[in-house]
Amino acid sequence: MIKRLLTFLSSPNSDTAKTAHYKKSRGKHGVTLIPRDQHSISRRDISTSALKVMNRLNQSGFSSYLVGGGVRDLLLEGSPKDFDVATDATPEQIRTLFRNSRIIGRRFRIVHVRFGREIIEVTTFRGQNSDSNQQIESDTGQLLRDNVYGDMESDAIRRDFTANALYYSSKDFSIYDYTTGIEDIGKRQLKMIGDPATRYKEDPVRLLRAVRFAAKLGFTIESSTEAPIRDQAHLLEHVPAARLFDEILKLFMGGYATATYQLLQHYQLLDQLFPGINKILSNDPMYGNLIEEVMINTDKRIRSDKRVTPAFIYAALLWPAMHHEYIRLTTKGTPQLEAFNQSSQKIISRQLQRIMIPKRFLIPMRQIWELQWRLPNRQGKRAQRLLEHPKFRAGYDFLLVREASGEQLDDLGLWWKQFQDADEDMKASMIGQLKPPSKRRKRKRKPRPPKTDQAPPSPENE
Ligand code: ATP
Ligand code: MG
Repeated sequence: MIKRLLTFLSSPNSDTAKTAHYKKSRGKHGVTLIPRDQHSISRRDISTSALKVMNRLNQSGFSSYLVGGGVRDLLLEGSPKDFDVATDATPEQIRTLFRNSRIIGRRFRIVHVRFGREIIEVTTFRGQNSDSNQQIESDTGQLLRDNVYGDMESDAIRRDFTANALYYSSKDFSIYDYTTGIEDIGKRQLKMIGDPATRYKEDPVRLLRAVRFAAKLGFTIESSTEAPIRDQAHLLEHVPAARLFDEILKLFMGGYATATYQLLQHYQLLDQLFPGINKILSNDPMYGNLIEEVMINTDKRIRSDKRVTPAFIYAALLWPAMHHEYIRLTTKGTPQLEAFNQSSQKIISRQLQRIMIPKRFLIPMRQIWELQWRLPNRQGKRAQRLLEHPKFRAGYDFLLVREASGEQLDDLGLWWKQFQDADEDMKASMIGQLKPPSKRRKRKRKPRPPKTDQAPPSPENE
């Protein structure tokens, strides 16, 4: 298909010539029009909700197009994650056309039109007028607000990568390309529209998007687009923590976590997201193995439609810093329980300054960590109680990953596997074979500390 498109584009007798008048009438960038019979997108592949949105907009006298990942992924014969629509109707006009819609966003105002569980994101064509007070820049050149409306061409060149700036019309079934989108998709390359350094400054999240799309699509990052990435990695500091949280989910929960993680490291972006991680990973490859193992498992689970939770991914990504700090404290003589509490607290609060992690993920993440200290501690009724812990499965899986990464834990994972499969007699016998808890420790036990929601790690088998 791509070959067909490229042949079409390079052929002087092809329909490209027919778009010459278009080029003149559409301003300096021009447009390449790819008619229905020259591309592989069929209406059958497009969500009926997106088609409904476009039809209603068109019937109401507005123009509307499918844009972004939907067009890109259909051209690449993939299945789009969602469908975005661009239009010349303003957010208010869109809002009045669709009862099931609401305006969201501040930096960019967009309209979400809801059909059951599906949301079609509808955006108004963006413009370029930087004098307007609708466009606000920070001193680093970051666009803090950008609600200047424009036409389809200005909208195209405000988008990030050429492959993301293709428009499909449900009216004439053509694709409109104002940049070099079709050509770059053919070359399987990710190319920034405009001057890459300026575009990263305007919105540093584009650094992460470059890596995400390169990983997901298996594209190379075109050289001028790639060149400023490492130097500008520090700009991520200026991105609000809540936006980074959304972006992290897209990076690691999209089915391409392994490739994404490798590229984040390659472009030195990982350390910006998880401060201090690079130094720890380069000193001890075991931690890197652990993260990679988690990424591989995450991708596998997503491919086989199994549930994945950001809590597990964060538990892995923050484990090196937390464990490293824990070891530092215990080496200094801090008791294990206190060392665990202090190190997890420190790493979590440092991380929250960079990436907002909601409580619903933070709490289970901490429970996964906490189980790492409790799982070795199996005497008496403890093993059975641990089996009933709501996060047992995640904690056990994490333990297996630690072992797979090369950590020596006395085959604890195997013990737990056998224990889960065992009948009552077998369980009793497995517990009976464990070393009894040391008496000395019992005698020395201090009075119980006041109860907190931070359960103590078990000290004896660490
Ligand atoms: P996917 O949905 O598969 O992750 P996508 O390309 O559709 O990929 P979205 O985040 O849904 O990505 O954004 C839709 C489109 O909006 C993009 O294709 C791009 O054209 C534009 N866009 C999104 N974010 C930015 C940005 N930070 N800077 C410029 N353009 C952007
Ligand atoms: Mg999208």
